[in-house]
Amino acid sequence: MRVAVVGLGAVGSAALRFLARQGCEAVGYEQFTRGHTRGSSHGESRIYRLTYADPYHTRLMRHAFELWQELQAEAGEELIVPCGVLWMGDATDPELNAIANALRSEQVHFDWLNAQEASARFPTLHMEPHERALFQSEGGFLRASDCVRANLRLAEAHGATIHENTRITRVEPLPNSVVIETEQGALERFERVLITAGAWIPKLLPELNLPLTVTRQTYAYFTIQQGAETRFEPDQMPVWIEATRHFYGFPSDGRQAGVKIALHQLGETQDPDTPARPVDENDLAPLRACLERRLPEVSQTVLHTATCLYTNAPDEKFLLHPLPDDPRVWFVSACSGHGFKFSILNGYEAVRCITAQAP
Ligand SMILES: Cc1cc2nc3c(=O)[nH]c(=O)nc-3n(C[C@H](O)[C@H](O)[C@H](O)COP(=O)(O)OP(=O)(O)OC[C@H]3O[C@@H](n4cnc5c(N)ncnc54)[C@H](O)[C@@H]3O)c2cc1C
Repeated sequence: MRVAVVGLGAVGSAALRFLARQGCEAVGYEQFTRGHTRGSSHGESRIYRLTYADPYHTRLMRHAFELWQELQAEAGEELIVPCGVLWMGDATDPELNAIANALRSEQVHFDWLNAQEASARFPTLHMEPHERALFQSEGGFLRASDCVRANLRLAEAHGATIHENTRITRVEPLPNSVVIETEQGALERFERVLITAGAWIPKLLPELNLPLTVTRQTYAYFTIQQGAETRFEPDQMPVWIEATRHFYGFPSDGRQAGVKIALHQLGETQDPDTPARPVDENDLAPLRACLERRLPEVSQTVLHTATCLYTNAPDEKFLLHPLPDDPRVWFVSACSGHGFKFSILNGYEAVRCITAQAP
């Protein structure tokens, strides 16, 4: 079966590998080059976690994690950093309680720590006496850009063809094939087409009026004070998240100097075809305030910043659908700021759906 994958970020790269591995003639199209920084999947790290306030996502993560482990084994490189995830918040925080309930219902082990216990176990993180923390060990971070690159490399090893710098402008189902057109005007015919174009999906499928909005998001790396570096390594420090406020951060990832912190809150609306404006002091001010209350051994000196796109669905759900009038074309979006961890599962499911359709 000849299948095109349009867009080679987290979801598309995974789908391309699964297609090629099962013997399809898989052809991937990416409007930029692999590893580009204009979409949603670039950078050193994305959190993966079982800690959701609903059991559904906890269950999904368990499936996704098996696929990440399988990718890591096939790639023969470290893609998963299992440092655990620590949620911190007020002792009465409703989100903390909802997460604890969801984990209990899925029989997932976790620890409650009071402020003193948490600070003793993870000395880089400051907690106030009225706070408590929930620690869950089966989380950590994925080496995001490396995951995308590994999927693409393995897809090629399984026989896939990849066209970089090739933007698809039209997808048209015809009676005997689906035609796609490149920006340069070339036409290609396929039996199936999978659209994994992230923030560009609404532009490629305008007739569907998808309820998606694209926002500009940012993150920054700050300097670890001299002498404290080893305490920030992933074997000593977990990924951390502030319940309700949704600031979050990582241990030192060993690739980019310093530590990364960010805020999970929707930024300004962004046209994905316009490069996002660079990170400025307005973006950094809330991160600086968070540093001050949480990470006393990190200085305010910025080492690196980046912008990234969220593609937001109203209910933070993922989209995985065929075109309303043609099941040979599917689109999938692992969006809403928490989709990287599930991207490999969405790619897997999309391939299962698209190849299951009778010709
Ligand atoms: C700052 C930030 C932090 C995040 N943190 C986390 C986290 O900690 N944990 C987590 O699970 N998730 C996180 N996410 C979300 C996660 O990164 C995204 O959900 C995921 O990367 C989306 O992947 P995608 O494949 O859908 O999109 P993308 O990776 O953007 O891929 C889409 C690709 O399609 C290409 N393309 C688009 N249109 C065309 C076209 N017409 N022709 C050819 N190619 C095209 C694009 O160039 C792009 O490469 C975060 C996101 C951001 C921005």
